[in-house]
Amino acid sequence: MAQVKVTKSIVEGILSYSKEKYPDEMLVLLRGKKKGDSYILYQAVFPPFMFSNWHSATYNPWHLPVDFSVVATAHSHPSGVKIPSREDLLHPYGKFMLISGYPYETEADIAAFDGKGRRIDWEVVEDEPA
Ligand SMILES: [Zn+2]
Repeated sequence: MAQVKVTKSIVEGILSYSKEKYPDEMLVLLRGKKKGDSYILYQAVFPPFMFSNWHSATYNPWHLPVDFSVVATAHSHPSGVKIPSREDLLHPYGKFMLISGYPYETEADIAAFDGKGRRIDWEVVEDEPA
């Protein structure tokens, strides 16, 4: 069973926001809740300000809000390489990291990793009724 489930609307949001920011990177925080042994990521939160380049030296993770319902981040890799960079692993935030890779077309363009940068399984789930 997948450790991480992501609702359909979040998956679509990640892909379309990645496209919108291309060739720059985008970053969003994801709220999630624990259900049994897995987490469901169901809401995106935009950081208080936008990074034009998340990997630049000015990136400061302490500017991110302290919000314990945020369990993951999602960001895009315009290079299309869906593996965490050294910088990504230096700034872990939350329990999981989703990386979308260009061309951001389908869920296959999104990969999930745990806090140590190990690839983990994830799956798309239907949105829950509010
Ligand atoms: Zn990255």
